[in-house]
Parts: sequence; structure tokens; C-alpha cells
Amino acid sequence: MTGKITVRTAARCQMIDITREVEAELKKMGADEGLCSVYVTHTTAGVTINENADPDVVRDLLMGLEKIAPDRGDYRHAEGNSPAHIKSSLVGASATVLVSGGRLVLGTWQSVFFCEFDGPRNRTALVKYIRG
Ligand code: ZN
Repeated sequence: MTGKITVRTAARCQMIDITREVEAELKKMGADEGLCSVYVTHTTAGVTINENADPDVVRDLLMGLEKIAPDRGDYRHAEGNSPAHIKSSLVGASATVLVSGGRLVLGTWQSVFFCEFDGPRNRTALVKYIRG
């Protein structure tokens, strides 16, 4: 069984906390103990786990990625969104989290973030639970 989360992004680059949505999918699946993979089927978006408390952390993450892959550069990809592809590969297309008691095992300050790098768009994050 695979859960599906729809994410409507509102900016070109944005990180959206989807922890609650992932846990809602786990609940639908009757999850108890195991592993959860959150995976995106996009080449200009990603998934990561990071701090949810201070919004400046997200701001600084996006700023840091912008420094690595700035808007202007010696890019060849005709679609013109190479910075988004680079950021997607840096962040990665999936995150795996332990599941216990049907919930994600996350630290106090951790959340699962959907990362948009070429928005705004309608996006999808897939959720797979493996009991174990
Ligand atoms: Zn492209």
C-alpha cells in the first residue's frame, strides 16, 4: 500500500512541513512498527528532514542551496531550470524514517519537509510503510 500526499507549493523555492500528512497516511495504513519512506517523483523537488522550530533554519537552508546553485550560471539545460535540478539532487528524492507506535520517530525539532525548487506547482509525495 502506498499513500499519496498532494502538495500545492506557492513559491519558486519553498520547504513545506508535511510531517502531519505523512503520519495521517501511516494511520490509514494501520502502521505500527517499521520504516516509512517518503518519496517524490519529481526532478526539481525533494524531501529532507530538518528543524521545524526556527523558520530561519528553512530560510538559511534555501539560501545555502541558492549559493551552491544560483539562478545565473553556465547552464546548458534548455528548459532553464538547472538550479532546481541541482538542488533536487543535493537534497534527494526521498527520506526514510523509523516508525514506532504508528508514528514517525523524529526528534523534538525534526520535521519532514517537502522541498520545492521550481514552483509554484501541484506536487505529489508518496508514502510507503514497511512493517518490521
Ligand atoms: Zn529541467
